[in-house]
Amino acid sequence: MTFDVQQTFEVFALTFSVETVRYLIAVGIVLAFIPFILRRGKQRDLHSKPPEPGQIRREFFYSLLTGVVFAANGLYIHFGMEGGWAHVYEETALDDLPYMALTLIGMLVAHDAWFYWTHRALHHRMVFNWAHNTHHKSRQPTAWAAYAFAPPEAFINGCFVPIWVTFVPTNGWVIFLFLAHMILKNVAGHSGIELYPTRLPGNRFFGFITNVFHHDLHHRDISRGNYGLYFTWWDRWMGTEHKDYAELVATQRAAKTETAAAAE
Ligand SMILES: [Zn+2]
Ligand SMILES: [Zn+2]
Repeated sequence: MTFDVQQTFEVFALTFSVETVRYLIAVGIVLAFIPFILRRGKQRDLHSKPPEPGQIRREFFYSLLTGVVFAANGLYIHFGMEGGWAHVYEETALDDLPYMALTLIGMLVAHDAWFYWTHRALHHRMVFNWAHNTHHKSRQPTAWAAYAFAPPEAFINGCFVPIWVTFVPTNGWVIFLFLAHMILKNVAGHSGIELYPTRLPGNRFFGFITNVFHHDLHHRDISRGNYGLYFTWWDRWMGTEHKDYAELVATQRAAKTETAAAAE
């Protein structure tokens, strides 16, 4: 493999463009969806005041900067595919669908664990100020804050896919779906509007999925829990679930039990 400066620049520019467009589309979808959600009740608006002056500009700037860092990680995958150490394949066959589904679920579960533990580490007082404080400047974030990370945090987040494809052969469409879900979840989680069903937290079958309130609490009370991204598992296992979220879950479960008892 020879190092080609022009090719490197082209791959970098293409990856940055794709990352930026992905971010803009996800923000556009969530912002377009919000008026319909608010029609279901103003209590879905989780924030008490509008964004601070300059907040959206800051969130947008750092999200674009994250695109630059992610593009650098994208170079690893590109040259890894050429060099044979990154295992991304493109052929899609019908009998490959079970493996593709498994790898997609595996990526979600593994990334959730990666995010939880690296996020908890970023809250350590030795690193918080220079690595994670940028993200927490938004106490009441907007959808634009999805990727508003300082470069060290962006790098840590962006490492997941390169590490994954180094060890697990993965179809390109699986990576596409994983990234589409990741950006949508991130944008939604920072939107300040509860987009999920209000009964989700206490639901016996789907309560493991985090809603908007889950991450919004993390921004309101820094270092008081809710470090997870997609699922509530790690916060529950490690005892880091925010007390207000745990209370909401307990209240919903109790209400459900009472309704069931009254129906008997
Ligand atoms: Zn945090
Ligand atoms: Zn956040």
